[in-house]
Amino acid sequence: MARVKVYTTDFCPYCEKAKSILSSKGVEYDEINIQDDEKLRDEIERLTGGRRDVPQIFIDGEHIGDDDALEALAVSGELDKMFNLEAQEATLPAPEIILPTAEITPPVLSHHDEKIRNVIIIGAGPAGFAAALYAARANLHPVLITGSEIGGQVSTTTDIENYPGFKGENAAELIQIMQSQAMHFGTEILFFDVVTEVDFAQHPFRIKTHESELFAKSVIICTGASHRKLNIPGEAEFAGKGVSYCATCDGFFFQNRSVVVVGGGDSAVEEALFLTRFASEIHLVHRRDRLRAGSVLQKRILNHEKVKFIWDSVVEEIQGDEKGVNAVRLRNVKTDEQTIHPTEGVFVFIGHIPNTEIFKGQIELDERGYIITDKRQRTSVPGVFAAGDVQDHLFRQAITSAGSGAAAAIEAERYIAEIEDRAYPGRL
Ligand code: NAP
Repeated sequence: MARVKVYTTDFCPYCEKAKSILSSKGVEYDEINIQDDEKLRDEIERLTGGRRDVPQIFIDGEHIGDDDALEALAVSGELDKMFNLEAQEATLPAPEIILPTAEITPPVLSHHDEKIRNVIIIGAGPAGFAAALYAARANLHPVLITGSEIGGQVSTTTDIENYPGFKGENAAELIQIMQSQAMHFGTEILFFDVVTEVDFAQHPFRIKTHESELFAKSVIICTGASHRKLNIPGEAEFAGKGVSYCATCDGFFFQNRSVVVVGGGDSAVEEALFLTRFASEIHLVHRRDRLRAGSVLQKRILNHEKVKFIWDSVVEEIQGDEKGVNAVRLRNVKTDEQTIHPTEGVFVFIGHIPNTEIFKGQIELDERGYIITDKRQRTSVPGVFAAGDVQDHLFRQAITSAGSGAAAAIEAERYIAEIEDRAYPGRL
């Protein structure tokens, strides 16, 4: 079998994603954790032609790329071919395929008809796992489809200090606890399967994924939001070669280097503080003259000796050469003055965009693309609920996401009881 090497660091959700893709395929790999090992760090840069991010994956000595590249191989079926997994799968018993039948089309659904799932939850962040926990404890036997990432934005952070009852140093631990608790009560998890299409015009609702087609009486959407990009020249060109969206993953590549952090919210400040462990100096570029971040974080950063602030400014271009990023072009939004600021890294934390692409035309979204829900997490389609960052641009906290996930599951249970003409909470 081909030999697989995965280079990782300690706090890297994308590394976990890469490892899980390999594990889900039964592929064994050697993990090489480069944390605090300068030789290994330099080795990655040399072997990858200057990449300054993890994970980096090699198969039989050939550089495959990062987690996104590995996911693309998995989705296209190339990974199966590389490891001869197709032949192995052919010998395994065929998976149970859940298909609707003519007699179970609406309006009457049997709560106990196993061909149709009660609840399908899409997304594996705090909202998704809380919804799964509540639905599982209501005996609804929920299915949770994780998508390509587990943990969502929480797992890209290090410390979680504002989730009641949890004061861990590693946010990934919180997600692991949530996951195992949901599974303990009977949630079926489809790991790293990605929903490609939904049909909410029919009931039971149809959910198509890379791996299968599922039908459900109710759906809870918890797909969260993804980091916003600057969309400026040089950003795509130098991604992984100085441009990063994850300080906890890639910070170690910038030891004793000068870096720029873009943004003024909690994420930018928190990640900038994390970077103080490695970088020689951090210039935080913000488009206004005061931070959006909360006061605790502001207090920590405003007097930090390694952090300097470039106020009222935006990054208009990221410049570099074959070695990677070497400067950014800044523009002062008040004076229009342009300057070239030398730097070796650009960390971008300028907010998020909701992951709602596949729901367009199926449910009502607001002008920014967030799912519109009422106070009971109901969307414009009865039986479809949404929770967490995909429908919330105000709070966006792990705790509020988890709360809305729990509420969505309670409402889903109520909805199923209603269409089955049972009294809520029903005979289960
Ligand atoms: P955010 O609060 O939306 O902040 C985004 C920042 O990026 C803002 O400062 C914004 O500037 C700036 N920005 C937006 N578009 C820009 C552009 N095109 N160019 C330059 N700058 C741009 O996003 P976030 O910091 O990722 O936080 C998201 C949510 O998660 C928030 O609710 C936050 O409280 C929460 N969070 C909490 C914690 C914690 O509690 N420890 C940690 C991380 C995140 P303006 O200020 O001018 O709008």
